[in-house]
Amino acid sequence: MSIEAADVVIVGAGAAGLMAAIVAAREAPGRRIVALDGARTIGAKILVAGGGRCNVTHHEVSERDYAGGSPHAIKQVLRSFGVRDTVAFFQELGVELKREGTGKLFPTTDTARTVLNALLTGLREAGGELSHPTRVRSITRSPADGPFRVEADGVTLLAHRVIMATGGMALPKSGSDGGGYAIARALGHSLREPILPALAPLVVTDPPWIRELSGVAVHASITLVSSSGKHLLTMDRDMLCTHFGLSGPGPMDVSRHWQMARVADRGAHILVSWQSGLTLDAVESMMRGSHAPALPWLREVVPERLARALLDAARVPVDASMRQLPKESRRALASLITQCPVRPSETRGFTYAEATAGGVPLDEVKLATMESRRCPGLSLCGEILDVDGRIGGFNFQWAWATGTLAGRSAARSLPPP
Ligand SMILES: Cc1cc2nc3c(=O)[nH]c(=O)nc-3n(C[C@H](O)[C@H](O)[C@H](O)COP(=O)(O)OP(=O)(O)OC[C@H]3O[C@@H](n4cnc5c(N)ncnc54)[C@H](O)[C@@H]3O)c2cc1C
Repeated sequence: MSIEAADVVIVGAGAAGLMAAIVAAREAPGRRIVALDGARTIGAKILVAGGGRCNVTHHEVSERDYAGGSPHAIKQVLRSFGVRDTVAFFQELGVELKREGTGKLFPTTDTARTVLNALLTGLREAGGELSHPTRVRSITRSPADGPFRVEADGVTLLAHRVIMATGGMALPKSGSDGGGYAIARALGHSLREPILPALAPLVVTDPPWIRELSGVAVHASITLVSSSGKHLLTMDRDMLCTHFGLSGPGPMDVSRHWQMARVADRGAHILVSWQSGLTLDAVESMMRGSHAPALPWLREVVPERLARALLDAARVPVDASMRQLPKESRRALASLITQCPVRPSETRGFTYAEATAGGVPLDEVKLATMESRRCPGLSLCGEILDVDGRIGGFNFQWAWATGTLAGRSAARSLPPP
């Protein structure tokens, strides 16, 4: 096992770690900046992101797009490195981004490989090093103001500054398996728990007929409600019924909120309006004014397979006249269309999640530099922190922003050579 000296060691070379390493290497030319990653394949998450096209950021990003840390703290970080900075950074690396109708920004090549290659080339050109597969086992510091001792597979590095960019636990086969949390704890940090899969599809058995609608896609409103019926939040998003339950942006965005609500209230569940914007009263009045039989009428509102399932669940015959439906049946059907109670049993877990809820609390880092308040000389960036964004490029924006702040401040605070 060799012992080597380094100026800045970055642990984890995902989006945040690569960004931190590039910025540190550019800020401190001639100093030794080393990124270590335990994964055999570098950038696996960047490559699968956005369906292989990598949704790099979103044209409009604000603290409201995130959960976890305090909105004020998240806003302060995002202000230091915003969407324009991301666009300019990638442009300088030769990656042009295009904005799609949804507001998401993708590389014009439509391939995530462009993004990863540009980051790896950018790191090399800035003089930074990347070593992998090199898993870090522990980080210690003795004496307290001495160099960090980074114990990794095959090598020990003695470093002035360390940046932890080990991510969360989503997609563990990519290398982000939560191992970084124990290292952060050993260096004096706490964790905001529970650590839960965010942006995860929902497993649904109640009502059972949802699983039979596999392939049906709708633009729905999803409302998270407490067991007492209090509305906690509502989001209008695309949704897909699958063989296990519900997937797509709506269910995935609500998943972290549903799990957090359930920690204190086991009865927390969701209400689905199968066509966003429709209210119970509006649907009832549409029914009263229609001469059409039930199925043709409902087919105009939702896809046919869903229409049949809703009629079946409300015990309304497909040929029943809408106008002549008994009041209770009309109400039951309108209620199923606009506020269908769905009780997920669980999420599909970290294997299928795109982010992690929980992590190192933001109040344990200085927001201008991402430097640890618990361990001077250590910085943290990316998903290891207690911040998770909604679907749309917000998690990468967090990684680019915090990676930049961490890399810059670590390099600028190096002792003279
Ligand atoms: C399928 C999927 C699709 C996604 N699509 C998008 C998208 O389109 N847009 C978007 O904004 N976000 C997307 N995300 C989320 C986004 O990928 C993450 O939020 C982001 O990659 C987090 O960056 P990070 O660098 O903090 O962590 P990670 O990317 O998880 O990187 C952490 C790295 O640390 C390494 N590591 C961990 N422990 C150690 C150790 N002990 N020693 C050495 N190395 C270690 C890991 O191998 C890994 O490479 C997606 C996520 C998934 C799973």
